[in-house]
Amino acid sequence: MGKIISIANQKGGVGKTTTAINLAASLAALEFKTLIVDADPQANATSGVGVDPKSVEVSIYECMVDGESAKKSIVDTQIKFLDLLPSHIDLVGAEVEMVNIEEREEKMKQALAEVRDDYDFIIIDCSPSLGLITINALTASDSVIVPVQCEYFALEGLGKLLNTIKIIQTRLNQDLEIEGILLTMYDVRLNLANQVVEEVKMHFESLVFSTMIPRNIKLSESPGFGMPAITHDADSKGSISYLNLAKEIMERNEVKAA
Ligand code: ADP
Ligand code: MG
Repeated sequence: MGKIISIANQKGGVGKTTTAINLAASLAALEFKTLIVDADPQANATSGVGVDPKSVEVSIYECMVDGESAKKSIVDTQIKFLDLLPSHIDLVGAEVEMVNIEEREEKMKQALAEVRDDYDFIIIDCSPSLGLITINALTASDSVIVPVQCEYFALEGLGKLLNTIKIIQTRLNQDLEIEGILLTMYDVRLNLANQVVEEVKMHFESLVFSTMIPRNIKLSESPGFGMPAITHDADSKGSISYLNLAKEIMERNEVKAA
C-alpha cells in the first residue's frame, strides 16, 4: 500500500509545487511507482509534469465532488514510473460545493483508496490555503512535508499550520505524521538564509530534513519545459538535492530501493 505524503504550507511561493514534482520524479527515478496528485486549482503541478491543464477532462475535482473513479482519471506522464491525477480550475468551486455533503473532509481519502495499492508513493501538492481541499489532503495522508523558504518571516504562519495538523490528528486522521520540515531556496552566501536555518532547527530540531534545497535556476526554469528538473537536468544542484531528499525519506521510512 502506497505511502501518501502531502506537501503543505498555506503560504504561497515557498516551494510546495517544486518539491511535489521533483520529489515525485526523484522517487520515480529510483523506480518507485509514484502518483502525483495536484490538489491546487492553479494546476501548476499538472503543467509541471507536462500535462496541459486545459486538456484535462476529469480531475481530482470530479473524483471528490462527483465520485468519479480516480483510476480512470489518472493520466500517464512522459516520465517512467510517474503518473498524475490532474487538477483543473474547477477545483476552486469544490470547497463551496462540498460544504453540505457528508464526510466532506474524507472525499480525497475515499477517492485515493481505489488506487493506493497501485503505487509505492502518492505525493499531494496542496494549494496555498488551509481550506477544505487541503484538509482533505491531510486527512488522506500518512504524513506531511512542510516546505519553509529561507527568507524573512519564514516561521510566520507555521504555528497555524501545525495547529491545523493537530486538529486533523485529533478529529480526522490520528495517524497523520509530520514527515519533515524542508528548507527551500537556501543560499549559502546569504547571512539571512543561515539565520533562518538556525532558527528553524532550533524550533523544530530533528523534524528538519538534513537535506536542504538550494536556490537553483534549473528548478525555477524546469516548469517552462513541462518537466521536473531531475528529468531534463539530473546533474544540477537542485535535482541532486531532491534526489537526496527522496533517499532521506526512504531512510526515515526504512524503505529499500526498488
Ligand atoms: P508554491 O507551490 O509553494 O507556491 P513554487 O514551488 O511554485 O511554490 O515556487 C515558487 C517560485 O519559486 C516558482 O517560480 C519556482 O520556480 C521558484 N522556486 C521554487 N523552488 C526554487 C529553488 N529551490 N530555486 C529557485 N527557484 C525556486
Ligand atoms: Mg504551488
